[in-house]
Amino acid sequence: MPDRKNVYLFYSPSDELEPKIQEMRAIGKKYGFRLVHDFNEANIIASIGGDGAFLQAIRKTNFREDCLYVGINTGRLGFYTDFDIDNLEGIQEGLRSDNVEVFKYPTLDVTVDGSNTFQCLNECSIRSQIIKTFAIDVYIDDLYFETFRGDGMVVSTPTGSTAYNKSLRGAIVDPRLKSMQLTEISSLNNNEYRTLGSPLLLSGDRELVLKVVQDGNDHPIIGADNEALSIRHSHEIRIKVSDKVIKTVKLKNNSFLQKVKRSFL
Ligand code: NAP
Ligand code: MN
Repeated sequence: MPDRKNVYLFYSPSDELEPKIQEMRAIGKKYGFRLVHDFNEANIIASIGGDGAFLQAIRKTNFREDCLYVGINTGRLGFYTDFDIDNLEGIQEGLRSDNVEVFKYPTLDVTVDGSNTFQCLNECSIRSQIIKTFAIDVYIDDLYFETFRGDGMVVSTPTGSTAYNKSLRGAIVDPRLKSMQLTEISSLNNNEYRTLGSPLLLSGDRELVLKVVQDGNDHPIIGADNEALSIRHSHEIRIKVSDKVIKTVKLKNNSFLQKVKRSFL
């Protein structure tokens, strides 16, 4: 590779942030990095903000496989943000590279109605847009599994397991485990409707198909991480663990389990 030191910074500009950006620019220069204004020219894409900003940085730059993504937080340390904008020394330490390792985050491939395809890093969610419930036929590898009726369903990645999935009482999943997890949002369970009721962790080689039952309330909202899809009328969502991963650098003493412990215990 001729040039692996082009850095693109993804952030919402503010007067507060600007001096920090200047400082980072100076440090980067010292270590031979160059800031670029077009993310297509970058080898390293750094988000500045929280986990939400990291998710946006990846989505807006199209889940590039040939880039390293780096999360720099501006508040508390998050799950995708290993570096702290108020600890520029720590960032320098990281740049010296023996203290960091490359880590690969699994993602999901989602296809809506056979054509609209996108990736997710946290989860794909499908939710009723109105107060009424809606129904989904769930298929796993072509096996009809259950019919869900309720507010919606969430399919999360291992790194997404600490986000929406956790609020739905899903399990926290070690990102080394290639898998996806299906959780329910308020399912109806009675003599008419029956679903598993517990989170379902599926192996990375399964395919999950969610078919929206066309019964009047068939315009649910589909979410890809922190963005809603513009498709308003969808019939079928196919979800698989992707072959593509997000490459990120993380500090050696900041493992997934350490993050879980720091955030929840
Ligand atoms: P948000 O509503 O501002 O964020 C919700 C919280 O989730 C924030 O504290 C965010 O951290 C945190 N978060 C994001 N990804 C995480 C992860 N992988 N592990 C642990 N915490 C995580 O929206 P947002 O910041 O744009 O984040 C989008 C995510 O929010 C979605 O992907 C979904 O997982 C989650 N969400 C949760 C619920 C729920 O729990 N009821 C509902 C909708 C969406 P930061 O403050 O660092 O950004
Ligand atoms: Mn946020």
